[in-house]
Amino acid sequence: MTNFDSKNPPQPELIDSCVHCGFCLATCPSYRVIGKEMDSPRGRIYLMDAINKGEATIDVATSQHFDSCLGCLACVTTCPSGVQYDKLLAATRPQIERNQPRNLSDRLIRTLIFNLFPYPKRLRNLLPPLWLYQNSGLQKLLRNTGILNKLTPRLAAMESILPQITADSWQDNLPEIIPAKGERRYRVGMILGCVQRLFFSPVNEATARVLTANGCDVIIPSSQGCCAALPTHQGQEVQAQTLAKQMIDSFIEEDLDAIIINAAGCGHTLKEYGHILAEDPEYAEKAQLFASKVRDVQEFLSEIEFTAELHPLTSDELTVVYQDACHLLHGQKISLQPRQLLRKIPGVKLREPIDARLCCGSAGIYNMLQPETADELGKQKATNLINTGASLIASPNPGCSLQIQKHLDDRDSNLKLLHPIELLDYSIQGKKIEI
Ligand code: SF4
Ligand code: SF4
Repeated sequence: MTNFDSKNPPQPELIDSCVHCGFCLATCPSYRVIGKEMDSPRGRIYLMDAINKGEATIDVATSQHFDSCLGCLACVTTCPSGVQYDKLLAATRPQIERNQPRNLSDRLIRTLIFNLFPYPKRLRNLLPPLWLYQNSGLQKLLRNTGILNKLTPRLAAMESILPQITADSWQDNLPEIIPAKGERRYRVGMILGCVQRLFFSPVNEATARVLTANGCDVIIPSSQGCCAALPTHQGQEVQAQTLAKQMIDSFIEEDLDAIIINAAGCGHTLKEYGHILAEDPEYAEKAQLFASKVRDVQEFLSEIEFTAELHPLTSDELTVVYQDACHLLHGQKISLQPRQLLRKIPGVKLREPIDARLCCGSAGIYNMLQPETADELGKQKATNLINTGASLIASPNPGCSLQIQKHLDDRDSNLKLLHPIELLDYSIQGKKIEI
């Protein structure tokens, strides 16, 4: 007698594939910080098994152990038995959302997040008040007094990663078609992201320039919205399916060789559209086709012949540490390509940090929902990156960049942080980087 409901429960054969060896524990960030078996992959699989067999229920006590999972997928990489924890988690989270009512504070923060972050227009409307908040002295006052943290640590965590609102945040000026420079070799679509287009618009501009410099026509449908990564990772099935369908519709008329994304978390979800919409009779096939064309920009540039000429970024050698984003490294198995691309830039020398495969604590909205664990992971990540002695961090995901920047600021480190595509863009343009 199972205590999961009948809608896509975790598959017993996937649960049973875990042999409980515990190899995954050492690479699990929640286990590293919390230190309890139930907050490890093995513990969570035990819990799924118990709920499935009717020996445990979905309740406050059990659901907290699934909430504490970052969804970083490090355990999937580590597991010698090939346990598909990603599929197990993707099946369990919607069960929690459907069957375990959340308390008021949880409901409020989740309602705010799910009604704001996946909607770039709503986020854009918030820019003027946020700019005023940052420039009126109110932000400084709140941060100095620490009052927000005392009243509501989760809102304080959200506030703490707020990037500086600049003139760039208002820019949304990429045209719908950007022609290739020189001979056209490919026709690619480009996804702008939500946080990326508002707070990291230079990354999107750099992506378009690098693609066109390598012979790509770049198509950017203005109707595109959110890729659905955020609701997908949190088990919000209906919202995820709605957003995924809208995204597919935005690109459906275009004949494209690839659909390019420059944010790791978004790329992982876009490649999952076939699963997200598997039971939708109208969209299942379209979703498979869409997902088959999705490429992380670094993955795509490594697949094609990189034809643009690259120039040194500094007059001397430039030491760079590449920060592996979990949804690229574990979710898409992309780790060599970014490093190979960075090594192409004359004068760039790569350094590797300790615990390169451990999550930085960002994990989508994890740092807002579970600020204490996320903070500890963020501190460890910033320390390990600083200790490499590199002059610059290359970070391929906006969430990781915000989290790491916050912890660099907390340590008064002025280590520069850019997306790898920005380094390639500077290099193609022959621009120097100020270190
Ligand atoms: S998930 Fe894999 S590594 Fe972890 S305990 Fe199970 S079999 Fe071992
Ligand atoms: S996804 Fe990450 S946090 Fe969750 S169990 Fe696996 S390693 Fe641990």
